[in-house]
Amino acid sequence: MNPDRRYYDPEVQTMPREGLRQLQAERLAWQLDRVWSVPVPFFRRKLEAAGLRRADLRGLDDLTLVPTTLKDELRRSEEEHPPFGDYRGAPIEACVRLGASTGTSGRPTLILWTPKDLAVDHAASARGRWRWGLRPGMSLANAHPFGMNAGGWHFSHGVEMLGVLNVPSGPPVGDAHVRDVVEVWRRLRPDMYRLFGNVARTYADAARALGLDPERDLNLRIAGDHPSEQYLMVSSGLEALPLLGSACDERDGAHLAEDLAVVEVIDHRTRRACGDGERGNLVVTVLEKDNFLLRYDLEDVVRWNTKPCPCGETHRRLFYEGRVRDVVTVGGREILPIDVAFVLYEFPEVSRPSAEYQIVRASDALRLRVEYDPAGAVDTAALAGRLRERIRDRLGVPSDVELVARGAVPRFAYKAARVVDC
Ligand SMILES: [Zn+2]
Repeated sequence: MNPDRRYYDPEVQTMPREGLRQLQAERLAWQLDRVWSVPVPFFRRKLEAAGLRRADLRGLDDLTLVPTTLKDELRRSEEEHPPFGDYRGAPIEACVRLGASTGTSGRPTLILWTPKDLAVDHAASARGRWRWGLRPGMSLANAHPFGMNAGGWHFSHGVEMLGVLNVPSGPPVGDAHVRDVVEVWRRLRPDMYRLFGNVARTYADAARALGLDPERDLNLRIAGDHPSEQYLMVSSGLEALPLLGSACDERDGAHLAEDLAVVEVIDHRTRRACGDGERGNLVVTVLEKDNFLLRYDLEDVVRWNTKPCPCGETHRRLFYEGRVRDVVTVGGREILPIDVAFVLYEFPEVSRPSAEYQIVRASDALRLRVEYDPAGAVDTAALAGRLRERIRDRLGVPSDVELVARGAVPRFAYKAARVVDC
């Protein structure tokens, strides 16, 4: 593979929109046929309950007639038809891997892959990571978890498919593990790291405790905490398309893999399609996998960037804004952690080395716990006042800011929980 080429899959990534829509229509027709031919009882029931027969669904535009599906419905299908439910696009004998969703919002659901499903996911991943500048011959350390939460497997196979030396290091699990990882990184100095900010800090702190300089000795730079970094990637979960999109050098939203999925952004109140820049729910129809989902509402908040991209890729771009369950409604306005983070990063006093904060759910005011460094001789009353003022300017809501000492907000081994109930 020529490492100098600009796109991983030029033909697909720069396909004219017209051709891309044609490809989507053909692939959608194939999946709709399969609802009746495999059959897939869950989707068949759903379509027929909506009064739809196969013949009623003629093209891409008819897709909006199909009712959306939530994860809770998949969970219920698994309970009613144990253990795998009746929504699978492939018989269990054809599947070669199982994963389980994280289960943070209820019982975990099971995810199945056929060899073709894995190939599609890995190719999407390779395409996305080529945009990061990852090339054959480079090395990359990641700290994804393995086991049933299959993110680590997917990440690893995707980068290995690119010809990259993968260094799966795992999230930090105790001092001995952290020390071993730091030692391996010291010997290798990986070309690239993919770590969540809090995970990177755990490893960097351990390196410093061993007398090492993370940047000089490990090639580990701690970046990736500014909220705009969140816009560089979009996933639709392991059950749909783990790497649905990633950002090009323009860094203005993540280019989707529209040949592999029909992506919609839907207003959660009106259920209508959102236009450029409007926040709505991410709804995905999987096109190329045996285990597919039709109009799966991920309960994620996203918004479109529909402007043509100067990089030459034709697939549209999307900004990932957060989880629906993390929306806090204050005075009628819907606020997400990323909105708060953008404001906090305007204040070095509360964002260096990273902003650590929690939003306490309340409807009258945006209630925040924000960490600051007490060693910095900060006038906390004045700082809280300036934060309140800036939040009102930027987000249009009153706030109640409690400044707490560094370390007071709980840390997480993997992803941080920013919204709490009390
Ligand atoms: Zn681009």
